[in-house]
Amino acid sequence: MRVLVVEDEQKLANNVARGLRENAGYAVDIALDGEDGLFMAESNPYDLLLLDLMLPKMDGMKVLSRLREQSIRIPVLVLTARDEKESIVALLNSGADDYITKPFDLGELIARCKALIRRSKGHSEAVLKVGDVNVNTLDHTVTRAGRPIRLTAMEYRVLEYLAHRPNAVVSKTELLEHLYDYNWEKFSNVIEVYISGLRRKLEDGSSHQVIQTLRGQGYVLRD
Ligand code: CA
Repeated sequence: MRVLVVEDEQKLANNVARGLRENAGYAVDIALDGEDGLFMAESNPYDLLLLDLMLPKMDGMKVLSRLREQSIRIPVLVLTARDEKESIVALLNSGADDYITKPFDLGELIARCKALIRRSKGHSEAVLKVGDVNVNTLDHTVTRAGRPIRLTAMEYRVLEYLAHRPNAVVSKTELLEHLYDYNWEKFSNVIEVYISGLRRKLEDGSSHQVIQTLRGQGYVLRD
């Protein structure tokens, strides 16, 4: 998953980005003002936007309404200061999905981010079930038919993304754009490596193919 943090307090933005990378395994980009944030959200397929309200160049409310005017449906979590509470109703009415008041607990922020991403992809439960594969988005454990599967951090991220879209064809570019930050093009050769690692571990000793490759199109996680 890939998240955009639009926040002008650099230290806070860096802390949030580090927390999301280390604890949720997300790729994170940062924008330090509203104009940059809007441009980045318009030009990349983020899975979640964390949006501060008081921002240089363009405020968070305007960024949000510009995105919604263009029917960009990315889930938006607003980071708000305590004295901005009155504007929360207006924000939710303008298409924000949730908010958190500063100063916030990083663990709570990450939990809200995970829940918003799951819901936006049509899942309400923290454990994604695809056939007999269970992907636990809270502790990042994976089982197949009850048997624990040990994955590397990147293999987990690939599998979690696929598990959010079971039976859909997911292209290599889509995986790259959602698993890496703005540098994603540098990583275009590694996806095959993760897919083959996943396949080896998930399909160990069984004939049922869990991840299919459609040549020239992408990958499908079958249930
Ligand atoms: Ca601010």
